[in-house]
Amino acid sequence: MRIDIVTIFPDYLAPLELSLVGKARSEGLIEIGVHDLRDAATDRHRSVDDEPYGGGPGMVMSPQPWGDLLDPLVTDSTLLVVPSPSGRRFDQVTAQDWSQREHLVIACGRYEGIDSRVMAHYAQRCEVAEVGIGDYVLAGGEVAALVIVEAVTRLLPGVVGNARSVIEDSFAPGEMEGLVEGPVFTRPPVWRDQAVPEVLLSGNHAEIARWRHEQALARTQRMRPDLVGPDVNAPEAQE
Ligand code: SAM
Repeated sequence: MRIDIVTIFPDYLAPLELSLVGKARSEGLIEIGVHDLRDAATDRHRSVDDEPYGGGPGMVMSPQPWGDLLDPLVTDSTLLVVPSPSGRRFDQVTAQDWSQREHLVIACGRYEGIDSRVMAHYAQRCEVAEVGIGDYVLAGGEVAALVIVEAVTRLLPGVVGNARSVIEDSFAPGEMEGLVEGPVFTRPPVWRDQAVPEVLLSGNHAEIARWRHEQALARTQRMRPDLVGPDVNAPEAQE
């Protein structure tokens, strides 16, 4: 798989040299290219933005540098990803889907965003996905690009050492779909008067799997009732 990222702050993407993604790149499991949008600017100030038509605060990213930079990157098998707070929510199912793609291009907006004609134009040449990473507004798409690249990369075969950990993660399709993971523990068996739940020391794998599933459900009901609905057995909250 290859991911190209277009940004006016290439240094913002330096963490992609590190940790799991950096290792995946050095092992040839994924190729990542970072492109400076200002290289496609045509004036001596390397401008990439202009005032919004219709007035209003802030600046809008001009279509010309985007078009000139994206043209040689995009093919009909590209998925052009445009981070935006107004996009569809990026989630684990989307990450799973995109991990099967051969080529993503991530277009990082800044200011008030990218001139809408850019997305409309490329939608005629390839698939375009506008996605948000949450209901808040960031200064630019770079943090969203880091989130997307890391979530997708860890699903590629061979990237995470133990493939089971990906299958058993929060939101993973299958048993964990729509659920978050329950609590996890490691040595020592007692820490500051808190003992690890007995069942985890039992060696009974079926019991452990059942307990983990119950815990995942209980935690999802507690932390993310929007995913499963509230726990009908929970005591009613006091006014
Ligand atoms: N005016 C835009 C609006 O109200 O929707 C906000 C633009 S924001 C300041 C600049 C850029 O940051 C966006 O074009 C997008 O690339 C990125 N961005 C901001 N919040 C985001 C979010 N929640 N998810 C994904 N990208 C985001």
